[in-house]
Amino acid sequence: MSKRDLRKVVILGTGGTIAGVGEPGLTTGYSSGSMDIDALIAGVPGLKDLAWLIGEQIANVNSDDITQDDWLRLTRRINELGKREDIAGFVVTHGTDTLEETAFFLNLTVKTRKPVVITGAMRPSTALSPDGPFNLYQAVALAASREAVGKGVLAVFSDAVYSARDVQKGSTFHVDAFSSDDFGCLGYIRDTVPYFYNAPVKRHTVNSEFDVEEISALPKVAISYFHVDADPETLRYQYMKSDGLIIAGAGNGEMSLLWDREMENLECFGKPIVITSRIHDGIVTLHRKVPSNVLSGDTLNPQKARILLMLALTKTADIAKIRRIFEIY
Ligand code: ASP
Repeated sequence: MSKRDLRKVVILGTGGTIAGVGEPGLTTGYSSGSMDIDALIAGVPGLKDLAWLIGEQIANVNSDDITQDDWLRLTRRINELGKREDIAGFVVTHGTDTLEETAFFLNLTVKTRKPVVITGAMRPSTALSPDGPFNLYQAVALAASREAVGKGVLAVFSDAVYSARDVQKGSTFHVDAFSSDDFGCLGYIRDTVPYFYNAPVKRHTVNSEFDVEEISALPKVAISYFHVDADPETLRYQYMKSDGLIIAGAGNGEMSLLWDREMENLECFGKPIVITSRIHDGIVTLHRKVPSNVLSGDTLNPQKARILLMLALTKTADIAKIRRIFEIY
């Protein structure tokens, strides 16, 4: 295929282990976000034969240092470039630690049906057998494909394609670190060919009501993690400091009588409390009686529920409306 016939894909670099550099051969003790996006692209054999590539550096950090400013910049850049007819799709390179959060934020805020594919690596570029080049290769192939259009933001990792809503990091070091647990992946990618078997049914991208074009700061939402002997004071402290709170409860979103009682004490303030589970699989169904400002985070993990609550709070403070948002996204 001549270069003129290739589809155009924009690769937005944010750093992470995929851009990590360390001692030759080693998989630990490296610096995340060290290599720039053009060097990353140049280091993958055959990548330039898949698409006409444009690299852009949005950030170059360990993904634990990603901020909402990076999210807003990413969304706005994708929305801006997405309007251009000559661009077929997008790849975002990202550290794996918070990849699922950025993926879900983009899934709820980008306004394009064009493929947006996020990927990363568990091993730095200087490791003996780095996984980044292969993941980037597959991500570009997917972003240039027609099969990925309209499927929301996708994550590609180790031959599998995941929905941004459900993908989670599940290992601190295995190369095959991502999964969507009960929901499974949406499909596979073998070399450059995508095979889809599922599609997301929850609302995303062009059908999402969230618009962050004019927003400079997102509402403040904290996460309180329940454990044996958890101090109810920490719950109160985090709630009072925030516009809304996520609780990572035990099991089906449960917690001690002390925490239940503290939630009742906080009802008078009316700010939302969303109950999720510290278990990464399953749904939280609130069958017990809870205060009027308390709702379920559905199947979202605490960090994803936090993103949805922040975005919900940009639209409304009405608990019934926030409850509806948690049902449909
Ligand atoms: N700490 C790294 C990061 O998230 C881990 C990785 O990318 O795999 O940037």
